[in-house]
Amino acid sequence: MQSDSSQLPVAVVGAGPVGLTAALGLVHHGVPCVLLEEDAALSLDTKAGTILTRTLEVWDRYGCVDDVLAAGLRIDEIAEIERATNVERLSVRPSELDRDTRFPFVVNIPQHQLEPVLAAALARRAPGALRTEHRLLSFDVADDRVLLRVQTPDGVRELAASHLLACDGGRSTVREQLGATVAGRTLPERYMLVDVVVDLDVDYPRDYPYLAYFADPDEWMILIRQPDCWRFLYPLGPDREPPDGAELLAKVRRFIGDVDRVEVRNSVVYNVHHRVADRWTRDRRVFLMGDAAHLITPMWALGLNTGVLDASNLPWRLAWVLRGWADPALLDGYEAEQRPVAVEGSGEMAEAARRYMAHEQGAVATPAGSWATAYTRTLLGVRLDVDGTGDWSMVVRTASPPPVRPGDRAPDVAVWGPRRRVHVQDLVRDGFAALYFTDVRRRPDIPRNDSPALRHYAVSRWDAPHDSGLRDRALFDPGSAATLRFGVPADTLVLVRPDGHVAAVEPIRPGGAAKAYEAVTGRPVPVPAK
Ligand SMILES: Cc1cc2nc3c(=O)[nH]c(=O)nc-3n(C[C@H](O)[C@H](O)[C@H](O)COP(=O)(O)OP(=O)(O)OC[C@H]3O[C@@H](n4cnc5c(N)ncnc54)[C@H](O)[C@@H]3O)c2cc1C
Repeated sequence: MQSDSSQLPVAVVGAGPVGLTAALGLVHHGVPCVLLEEDAALSLDTKAGTILTRTLEVWDRYGCVDDVLAAGLRIDEIAEIERATNVERLSVRPSELDRDTRFPFVVNIPQHQLEPVLAAALARRAPGALRTEHRLLSFDVADDRVLLRVQTPDGVRELAASHLLACDGGRSTVREQLGATVAGRTLPERYMLVDVVVDLDVDYPRDYPYLAYFADPDEWMILIRQPDCWRFLYPLGPDREPPDGAELLAKVRRFIGDVDRVEVRNSVVYNVHHRVADRWTRDRRVFLMGDAAHLITPMWALGLNTGVLDASNLPWRLAWVLRGWADPALLDGYEAEQRPVAVEGSGEMAEAARRYMAHEQGAVATPAGSWATAYTRTLLGVRLDVDGTGDWSMVVRTASPPPVRPGDRAPDVAVWGPRRRVHVQDLVRDGFAALYFTDVRRRPDIPRNDSPALRHYAVSRWDAPHDSGLRDRALFDPGSAATLRFGVPADTLVLVRPDGHVAAVEPIRPGGAAKAYEAVTGRPVPVPAK
């Protein structure tokens, strides 16, 4: 048996979208991993259909977003329409976010087309990491490792892993073995999802936005343009039998009017849950993620996309701990930050969306202002509780961007390096970044970049003169556009984590960035031996 568990792979169980994303995240950070999937193939079920902006940013960081964009359909408007009158009540326009993100749109792609794209990206980066027909049977947590019993085509095998990430879905074996209780409820109605082949663009033009929520007290409906078909989603009463083909076609015609050439490609009825596990971790070795941790009403695309937020938060923490760059206590932040997002954030947003669609009394569904609406609906997880104060939010309540605060996702604004444009989120792909918003003419004391864990950059509307000694660690900010978007006073330090969230905002002082880094990781900034 190996004695150093940091040499063991991390085991990810379940190759759904969250397991695939978690594995891509680990590989991105150089952490060896195996991804165990009980089935022989990836999911054939047509489940989630819309990918939100924040998820695209995570996949960009993990190096697979181009593949997703090529396979999906980009949408620059989400409409909320009164079904009875066809009046548009609200239009969510991610293009309002062009100063916040490189992806001012959302993407429609059915889950069974998405998963192979993520799996192919993983196979390119870590050939053989995905092992199909490997079913986790049970596990034991030892002091420094997790021992997994796995059913494989060659019989039951034992596998030692440094950590176990349970992405094994709503019926999670790991959650059950952890003894976690799942609190919440299952809605009385089920949701009916129908994919139909019909030409609503030319033969029967309807010109609804490609993602449209039709609110109605009797029967709400969601219309989603998938890359090569149309999808309808609507509620099915508690006692209703799933409709047959003819009934489905009649329903489709009721929604979109009379059409002759229409064919049902796929349909599925599913139960809708709103449940969250009461604990997500054990011994800093086992972690629940995605549907294993939280089953969220898939309204406003909150199911899969909330799971991807989990897979944004945990991989960098594991990388830091396994490299010895952070105290294992860094892992506690995963549940502390993500659980409120699932319980109160996504959970409440999804519930508000469901009630809003059904015209229930008191449903509050949108923040004020079009920028805030777009930010909230597409850049989920807008502020995390990074400092343990309980202050976090998924909803932006100001009409325009507020000054950046700890926990915020750092705006992905562009600045200029010595040769070319860079975006803020690029600066933290594999490390922390200390951004010093200051006047570079005064030759501020910016530490040299001698650690891959923390890099320092002055941000200034003055390009660093060549005799300033700062040319290699200064970012030119023409017109102070980035500084204004961050909204911080002159001479402020903003420390950004590898997941793109702000860890600290404070006045610049000597050694301040290193101290702020240590406050997060529990260890001094590592400096490689020369
Ligand atoms: C019909 C339907 C429609 C939906 N529509 C939307 C939507 O429009 N938008 C949205 O955001 N969300 C939607 N959702 C929710 C979304 O599909 C889920 O949130 C998402 O699939 C969760 O991903 P996951 O990776 O956590 O789990 P899953 O996708 O469930 O993947 C879990 C994986 O683990 C594997 N596994 C399980 N047990 C084991 C084991 N013991 N060993 C090895 N492997 C194991 C399973 O085979 C599976 O591949 C929908 C869900 C359904 C059912």
